[in-house]
Amino acid sequence: MNFFEDEINKVKEQGLYRSLRTLSSAQGPEIEINGKKVLNFCSNNYLGLANDPRLNAAAIQAIERFGSGSGAARLISGNLELMEILESELAEFKGAEAALLFNSGYHANIGVIPALAGEGDVIFSDELNHASLIDGCRLSKAEKHVFRHNDLGHLEELLKTSSPPNPLSSLSKRGGRWIVTEAIFSMEGDLCPLEDLLKLAEKYDAMVYLDEAHAMGILGKNGEGLAPSDFPPNLVSMGTFGKAFGSYGAFVVSSKSVKEFLINKARSFIFSTALPPAVIAASREALRIIQNEPDRRESLWKNIEYLNDHLPSISSPSPIFSIKIGSAEETMKISNRLLEEGIYLQGIRPPTVPEGTSRLRLTLMATHSEAQIKKMTSWIKNYATFSENGDKEG
Ligand SMILES: *Cc1c(COP(=O)(O)O)cnc(C)c1O
Repeated sequence: MNFFEDEINKVKEQGLYRSLRTLSSAQGPEIEINGKKVLNFCSNNYLGLANDPRLNAAAIQAIERFGSGSGAARLISGNLELMEILESELAEFKGAEAALLFNSGYHANIGVIPALAGEGDVIFSDELNHASLIDGCRLSKAEKHVFRHNDLGHLEELLKTSSPPNPLSSLSKRGGRWIVTEAIFSMEGDLCPLEDLLKLAEKYDAMVYLDEAHAMGILGKNGEGLAPSDFPPNLVSMGTFGKAFGSYGAFVVSSKSVKEFLINKARSFIFSTALPPAVIAASREALRIIQNEPDRRESLWKNIEYLNDHLPSISSPSPIFSIKIGSAEETMKISNRLLEEGIYLQGIRPPTVPEGTSRLRLTLMATHSEAQIKKMTSWIKNYATFSENGDKEG
């Protein structure tokens, strides 16, 4: 047996084996997997925009005008006017000075964090941060501290005991402190206490890097996310187009000087081909729809309320519900049985979530009907006793 097969077998023994499921339909509340129609309750397409005819038309139009590829990185010959227009629309949407596009949320996090926080800086990172944030922190040469999930008391302790910031100002020299966290946590579905966190950051002369991947399009009066509408100077925020926007790519919102700095220093920005025109145009159309059609958000929140009422044991303040099972094997067993019944709810296991907290991650969309949610809810209830047995296993 070779090394790779050996490793795969180990993964299988731990109940952590992953394989791909094949779709043969467009995204929507109902999708086709392996030739079978199933209800989709594990997509981040929260507003149902991923197959919206208007996004599709915008993409087709952009291809006809600008072609399929962007040809180069933006600093070479790939910087299309359309990208700059989208950036200024985003900055306005967020009430900030500037926005900068990135090829994906993953690109943004692994490029921005090591650029902003280097040697001599200190990073404070929430323990449940997404893998891309963790990788960004790992790539950074800054000193790193992990604080307990959403625990501002613990964060303050760490801020107090870590090396003091540069007395001049955290931004005038290296010696800055960066708090790295998420607006809506991707696997828990809970929210970061941003208002208090920003105050704490101010008290300790720290900057905040906020990942709003799951909050964009969902939270805020116009879907602008969790960051306050008068964008604070000590905040840098990241949002993605791959989730509620139904497109692909990401952006970072900041002051003008941070944007300029990132254009010069963020390696994932500098050394990667720019997003294709079709993707930019689709994201722009999504931004327009998100701002002009609050009823989509209202449908989503109505669905969230419905599920909170009917499955109070897994209540959530966001479209992400976490059904904790515990054991990885048990989680996959339940996920597979639900799929046989036509309900697709992907099991989530380590290292995506901490050891012993394997779960079904249930996500709602604005476009789910009440009948579809009802059907899913009754199947989950069928398996509730099933799942409680798994609680104590690692
Ligand atoms: C999905 C996700 C990302 C990555 O964004 P992509 O655009 O999919 O690469 C980053 N952070 C969080 C919290 C996410 O959930």
